[in-house]
Amino acid sequence: MKIFVVNAGSSSLKYQLIDMETESVLAKGLCERIGVSGAITHKAADGREYKAETAMPTHTEAFEAVVYAMTKSDAKVIDSFDEISAIGHRIVQGGSIFSKSCLINPTVLDQIDELGALAPLHNPAHVLAIKACIKTFGEKIPQVAVFDTSFHQTMEPKVYMFALPYEYYEKYGVRKYGAHGTSHHFVSDRVAVLEGKDKKDIKIIVCHIGNGASITAVKDGVCCDTSMGFTPLDGFMMGTRTGTLDPSALTFIAEKENLTAAQINDICNKKSGMLGVSGISNDNRDVCAAADAGNERAKLAVDMQRYQILKFVGSYVAAMNGVDAIAFTAGIGENDPELREYVCKNLGYLGVKIDNEKNHVRGQEIKISTEDSKVNVYVIPTNEELAIARDTLALIS
Ligand code: ADP
Repeated sequence: MKIFVVNAGSSSLKYQLIDMETESVLAKGLCERIGVSGAITHKAADGREYKAETAMPTHTEAFEAVVYAMTKSDAKVIDSFDEISAIGHRIVQGGSIFSKSCLINPTVLDQIDELGALAPLHNPAHVLAIKACIKTFGEKIPQVAVFDTSFHQTMEPKVYMFALPYEYYEKYGVRKYGAHGTSHHFVSDRVAVLEGKDKKDIKIIVCHIGNGASITAVKDGVCCDTSMGFTPLDGFMMGTRTGTLDPSALTFIAEKENLTAAQINDICNKKSGMLGVSGISNDNRDVCAAADAGNERAKLAVDMQRYQILKFVGSYVAAMNGVDAIAFTAGIGENDPELREYVCKNLGYLGVKIDNEKNHVRGQEIKISTEDSKVNVYVIPTNEELAIARDTLALIS
């Protein structure tokens, strides 16, 4: 059985074709510059590659290019899309409506569209992609929505509410929703397997640290808190995003610089974080290299991010009254031993001990804590596409 996984943005479309018998990727690719010009890069698992520039005025033409790449190009992996059992879509915002993945029908599509008010950069693009899929593949291939937010729907009101006048929650749904839920779910499930325990019996902290980043506390088998908030801007400092800060700093800057709310939003999302502080790059590798070479602002950026991550981990130990396992995942979490060492050393008071040699293994699943550590620490490569494919398969079975 083959599942096609789609992660659509407004001008891009990432996809994977996954064979569910082996849970292996048969092909993956990316369509870019949709609505502007159009280009596709498609790779088969055996290394064959197909690249083309082709007009993609809408997502429909992008899917047509994907069909060509998958079924006719030199890097073809199937004869026809009839071989595909279902399509799984990554959806950024499921609001308070979707606490789990679901089959897409016209009502669900309308709800995803309405939730665009909470995720204007993402949900409208997902709706376009789903409609384009229906147009390209017809109604006979089932489509499933897998939400970044649904794993966090188990948070209690005391966790997800903001201390704003209650009417903004009632009128607009302003509250914490979280993000990266598919990854946190995947990794926390994997921790339970590695621990050989039922997830209900362990307290887990998952640190998903990539360009975008969030930390989640998982207790009694469900998410009880997460660092991202109303949007994926909250939490700790990221590649280009601020994370949590005093909102009056923003109203102050807006007044001084005569900036609109949209401009402030842009600065907080795209010009801040590691990039804003270092002035060098949003990429962790570049900023770390500059810090090592003696650049003071780069060093400050690295120190700030590590300190903020530590504070979140510490606060979740308090929130759960303990922790049994900590997992690091995503680009930085999987690949930056120094960040992991900093966090774990500063949790020494909990009895966290890591093995320096194991900690220097990069990008693969490994337990990096010592045998006598009171908390087990893991590096677990995330696989959001596989998690989407598994949910999709479960819903059509
Ligand atoms: P996103 O999916 O949010 O765009 P990723 O999970 O791909 O982000 O993570 C990207 C980040 O991971 C970048 O900041 C990059 O520098 C960092 N990264 C990737 N590989 C390494 C590495 N070998 N060492 C340190 N950082 C790395």
